[in-house]
Amino acid sequence: MKHSWRQHAACRGIDPDVFYPASDEEAEEAKAICGICPVRQPCLEHALANRERDGVWGGATERERRRIIRHRRKTA
Ligand code: SF4
Repeated sequence: MKHSWRQHAACRGIDPDVFYPASDEEAEEAKAICGICPVRQPCLEHALANRERDGVWGGATERERRRIIRHRRKTA
């Protein structure tokens, strides 16, 4: 099933606003939830593959995901 990892997401049922913080500084709550999430890796890969622009995915903010993408390009 597509996106079956979502069924195990720690953020299920949590106010989505938490995952769309106004700034990286306000992303701590979302990151803490991602930190205990069993599907953090597939979630992050999904966001990277789909170029998700907004929100915290897989414990990474938009800025952090851009950094990951840059880093991977460099080391690819
Ligand atoms: S890593 Fe974070 S955003 Fe992704 S499913 Fe888990 S809790 Fe949700």
